[in-house]
Amino acid sequence: MIRFDNVSKRYLTGLDALAEVSFEIEAGEMVFVTGHSGAGKSTLLKLISLVERPTRGQIVVNHAELGRVRRRGIAHLRRGIGMVFQDHRLLMDRSVFDNVALPLLIAGAARDEIGKRVRAALDKVGLLAREKAHPLTLSTGEQQRVGIARAIVAKPPMIIADEPTGNLDPQLSLEIMGLFAEFGAVGTTVLVASHDLLLIKRLGKRALVLDHGRLVDDFRPQGKAP
Ligand code: ADP
Ligand code: ADP
Repeated sequence: MIRFDNVSKRYLTGLDALAEVSFEIEAGEMVFVTGHSGAGKSTLLKLISLVERPTRGQIVVNHAELGRVRRRGIAHLRRGIGMVFQDHRLLMDRSVFDNVALPLLIAGAARDEIGKRVRAALDKVGLLAREKAHPLTLSTGEQQRVGIARAIVAKPPMIIADEPTGNLDPQLSLEIMGLFAEFGAVGTTVLVASHDLLLIKRLGKRALVLDHGRLVDDFRPQGKAP
């Protein structure tokens, strides 16, 4: 589902944010990317969604070799990736429903289809009763769940999340990560960047560990070796 072959990323500043990183993630796996601040976690996610291009190496996402994806192919590739951000990036002047509906509107879905899918997504994150609310009236944890509903509403085969619990307390963080694990359990590939090692250990999932741009560990919970 995701393959990195000797991928390096050097920014214009000359800094190597990633150096010779190789790994493979199977369809339906839930995997964390962890490491200290500046280790290269965001860069790795940005290479997958083609926000950035690698300096060297090859990346395959959803069977597409990213080096062959041109400008016009980028939107298509991104439709296959549900993205969740730390600051959730909700539109504060639109209702919860309208925020979640956005990817379906962009994809040109029919109206009744949009209603059905948005409510199914809100149901999954436990916010069905809040569809008319405005994001500003929700708690931080609820706002993040709206962001997750928006990421899954078009049923992408893959979800990537950059520090999705960065602003949440430990209990809420565990709940949010539990949601991601549920999506993984139904066949969606889930890749989550998080510096929260304690949380990752508690969830018992595979973790790619970055240190100054190098992949220094590929931790798999016991009993789940490939
Ligand atoms: P993390 O997500 O683990 O905190 P990042 O991928 O954001 O790490 O950053 C890795 C390194 O690359 C850091 O040293 C950061 O300052 C640097 N970096 C990130 N984005 C850019 C950019 N656009 N230009 C130059 N340097 C960058
Ligand atoms: P960071 O918080 O890591 O600094 P930025 O604010 O620099 O991240 O945003 C990273 C990039 O992600 C921006 O260039 C933005 O245009 C891009 N971006 C925003 N939404 C999406 C999306 N849905 N898919 C792909 N890229 C996106």
